[in-house]
Amino acid sequence: MKISEHFNLEEFSFSAAAARLGLDNIPGSAVISNLSLVAAVMERIRTLLGDRPLFIHSGYRSAELNRAVGGVATSAHCQGLACDFVCPTFGTPAEVAEAILKSGYRIRPAHSRVRMDSCRLDARGNRTASAGSDKAFVGGSV
Ligand SMILES: [Zn+2]
Repeated sequence: MKISEHFNLEEFSFSAAAARLGLDNIPGSAVISNLSLVAAVMERIRTLLGDRPLFIHSGYRSAELNRAVGGVATSAHCQGLACDFVCPTFGTPAEVAEAILKSGYRIRPAHSRVRMDSCRLDARGNRTASAGSDKAFVGGSV
């Protein structure tokens, strides 16, 4: 199911870990509407990076999946308000985060204990604002 010009719901809900563990990771309607906000921000990031494809490593996580992968209980992933992504044709995650920072987005610094293997978009601030606002955070993934 398409939720924005370039993103499908399945890209945000697919999880190799869920498939491996046989866990259900199908979002409900409230989560889907949150994921639509995230997708709208991802479209802006995609444009900003020169219309290059973004690949999502981790989007929605059911509570059960989140526990299985050791995520914190309050993770924005469980609300469908976070996604970890890469844009290999643009550069490394650090280069991607830097480019987004220069664009005026608020950037959350990379988590010092976590290897920065993808960028984390946290759109919790967008839920109460319009999807076009700059309340999202991008930084190292956790
Ligand atoms: Zn994450």
